[in-house]
Amino acid sequence: MEFPHLVGWAALAVTLGAFIFGAGRRLGREESAQRRREAPGQESALYLRGLNFLLADEPDKAIEEFVKFVRLNSETVEIHLSLGKLFRARGEVGRAIRIHQTLIARPNLSDEHRIAALHALAEDFRQGGFVDRAVEAYRQVLTVDPDHRAALAGLQAMHENEGRWDMALEILKRLETVTGSGDPRREAHIRVRMGLERQQSASAGVGDGEAMEQFRAAIRVFPGCVEARRLLGEALLAMGRAGEAIDILEALKSTRPSHFFLLMDPLRRAYGQIGDEEGFFRFLNDSILVLAASARLVIDCAALLEQRGRVDAALELLRLGISRHPRSLSVVVPWIILMARSDRVGEALEIARRRIEEQLAMQPAFQCGRCGFKSQDIYWKCPQCHQWDTMEPL
Ligand SMILES: [Zn+2]
Repeated sequence: MEFPHLVGWAALAVTLGAFIFGAGRRLGREESAQRRREAPGQESALYLRGLNFLLADEPDKAIEEFVKFVRLNSETVEIHLSLGKLFRARGEVGRAIRIHQTLIARPNLSDEHRIAALHALAEDFRQGGFVDRAVEAYRQVLTVDPDHRAALAGLQAMHENEGRWDMALEILKRLETVTGSGDPRREAHIRVRMGLERQQSASAGVGDGEAMEQFRAAIRVFPGCVEARRLLGEALLAMGRAGEAIDILEALKSTRPSHFFLLMDPLRRAYGQIGDEEGFFRFLNDSILVLAASARLVIDCAALLEQRGRVDAALELLRLGISRHPRSLSVVVPWIILMARSDRVGEALEIARRRIEEQLAMQPAFQCGRCGFKSQDIYWKCPQCHQWDTMEPL
């Protein structure tokens, strides 16, 4: 049984157990000797049978017993809620919806239970793909309890999935107020989407002011947002404001060095626009320590340097990259190639030989023909499947 189902079952079993225990005590206090003898006995039997089926990993039979139990105890809201949740977890959304709708229809339901049932119904609709009905149910929960965190989170996720970015942002802000903590990455990307939509609308364009304001807001809330910096940089470039673009793009070097390589292309074009290609390479040189933070950036920059005929600078950057990322073959390979091209073939071959040997030493030499277990040494009894003499050389 999958883990979420198991949790659902465990929750139901505990609820039912608590209920039976409570019922026994209640009946013990009551006068009806008849009920004390029969009803709890029958309930306990159903419960135990259900539990046994559950332990025997026979959920269908277990659910049958628990449904019978619920029929006997139609007034217990928690058990209905647990059972509904369980049906949903099993993908039986229709049954979950029926249970929750029946609960909500009760005239004497407490506010607390009504909210719980409405929220459960919203989750059912969401899982079943009934978007409008899910949104409606979440909104009903929030009408009664405007600070309901799970409903806010559910509604927020729905708006995101539907691409209703303005509403997704509005609910995110409400959630932020209720929980007292924000989600800057999420907010930044919602704002990026809002800006993109704005740019693509008929009247606007790449340089649309409102779109650019969204990108700026995204950067304020999450300075490491690559996409917001890229889009704002491109917009500024399209408007001929290369200097501002350079500031926006270069700032990622300090806010998120690992992802900086993703902005190299617009940055290079920005320097090109102001006729300062040299400035771009000066920036690369000045940032060489930061650049080495990312293997991808080392490779890209070294290629650029080499194209410009700056082979020594490229080799230096690659050497630094190797010391920062000793296991990354993707940095070593261009280094070896560049060494060979610079008439240092002997050195290049020596490095290549060492690297290949290191790689070979890490490769498994034997594999179990039965279970696929791999190792460098031969085991006469496979440590994984415990069969004798199944290992073949690779
Ligand atoms: Zn094996």
